[in-house]
Amino acid sequence: MVTGYVYSSWGNNQGRYRSVFIPKTSASAILPDESYLAYGNGRSYGDTCLPAGDTIIDTRAMKSVLKFDQQNGILRAEAGISLSEILDIIIPHGWFLPVTPGTSAVTLAGATANDVHGKNHHIAGTFGRFVRSLELLRSHAGRMVCSPTSNQEMFAATIGGMGLTGLITWVEISLMPVHSPDVEVIAKRFANLDSFFAQEQNDDAGFTYSVAWIDGFARGASFGRGLILLGNHAGRPESGAMPAAVRRKLRIPVPLTAPCNVVFPPALRLLNELYFRQNGNKRRVSCDKFFYPLDTVSSWNRLYGPRGFRQFQCVVPSATARNAITDLLTQAHTLAGGSGLAVLKKFGGHISPGLLSFPRPGYTLTLDFPNQGDATDQLFHTLNKIAIDAGGRINPYKDSSLTTSVFQASFPEWRRILPYLDSNAESRFSRRLGITGAPANTCAV
Ligand SMILES: Cc1cc2nc3c(=O)[nH]c(=O)nc-3n(C[C@H](O)[C@H](O)[C@H](O)COP(=O)(O)OP(=O)(O)OC[C@H]3O[C@@H](n4cnc5c(N)ncnc54)[C@H](O)[C@@H]3O)c2cc1C
Repeated sequence: MVTGYVYSSWGNNQGRYRSVFIPKTSASAILPDESYLAYGNGRSYGDTCLPAGDTIIDTRAMKSVLKFDQQNGILRAEAGISLSEILDIIIPHGWFLPVTPGTSAVTLAGATANDVHGKNHHIAGTFGRFVRSLELLRSHAGRMVCSPTSNQEMFAATIGGMGLTGLITWVEISLMPVHSPDVEVIAKRFANLDSFFAQEQNDDAGFTYSVAWIDGFARGASFGRGLILLGNHAGRPESGAMPAAVRRKLRIPVPLTAPCNVVFPPALRLLNELYFRQNGNKRRVSCDKFFYPLDTVSSWNRLYGPRGFRQFQCVVPSATARNAITDLLTQAHTLAGGSGLAVLKKFGGHISPGLLSFPRPGYTLTLDFPNQGDATDQLFHTLNKIAIDAGGRINPYKDSSLTTSVFQASFPEWRRILPYLDSNAESRFSRRLGITGAPANTCAV
């Protein structure tokens, strides 16, 4: 008889766990006396959110708001509240998330533990820059409050620390004031990759949000064509007040995992073509449409079938970006026939606060592929090498095939986190790569 509780990552890596801890409140949370890992909402694509041992801490019941300073835009909430739930609370008071990833389904602690980035990285940096403080529960060491001024080293290890420093029970963040959650967007076409680099330099100044979508199937003279989406929050609504129900959260469910991959290349090619042809006029859209278009189809990852799909994400320095991104897209064409979803974005100069935060200045490219086993392994090996040779790094929470050598080349100072690891916190990723605690005096901190 098969027993246990199954948890998955977004790329459909799966784990079966003997015991599940479900803390109801941050104050009552306790840790098991064995190997464990905290799980947010499983929106990490790779295996960083899956425990290596038999015990998972499912944090989603801890979702109370502990404090909301509406005057100064400061929110303290429990780890498992989702960004979507936070938006419902803060938008009517004229506040927005300072940084948001491309899905609102992630938890507050998940966003912190991966130090996520958004479409405003060029001016705002990462999510962790807006974390004022957090509480950490550690095996054999109890609770500690960490912030940029108190327990600073543990704070830096926990931001982007992928759950390996302990259980985050609550997080306090600064919010961003807005007149409206809606976004005024302009879409500018670029005919190929060279035009992107020529155009992009001038375009994102004056815009809070900037991201480029690339047609992952275009070839020849159109190779690398796409759209830059530029946006700013809209002005105050005519009524003067923030509308109470401003979000349009259409959700189309995918109830079951498809028996095989039903995301066919011809359909993706057509979607890419239609997207490229969209009207470039300035328009006002809801925040859900602008930031979270993929949330419209909940569990869309199931369309890729039981083998799931894999996401490649790297960042390369500006100096090497044009050549590296050309090579990456060329290899995606040659080895996989193209990528169904390709996103290119400039990262700005703000230094990420976490020891293992992924973002650094340069350009980040994200590519999605159905998982086809060995062939996809070979593809990722090639893509990783191009990025590393260009002086770049690979995002550790995106793909479960990341090897020790690629991780260490991506984060040459990775050993700095070792003294701060929780001795019992262990993910499949950390076990696979040998990221385990060691006595502090053996580590170069
Ligand atoms: C459609 C889509 C779009 C995305 N767009 C972006 C993007 O634009 N930018 C970006 O950066 N990422 C993006 N992501 C990735 C996603 O934002 C991150 O992986 C996010 O951190 C997942 O959060 P989660 O709550 O689901 O946490 P999980 O994936 O469950 O866990 C993430 C990590 O946080 C740790 N963790 C969770 N809760 C706790 C806790 N209480 N204490 C300690 N550790 C904890 C886990 O151990 C794990 O290491 C996207 C993902 C999807 C599916």
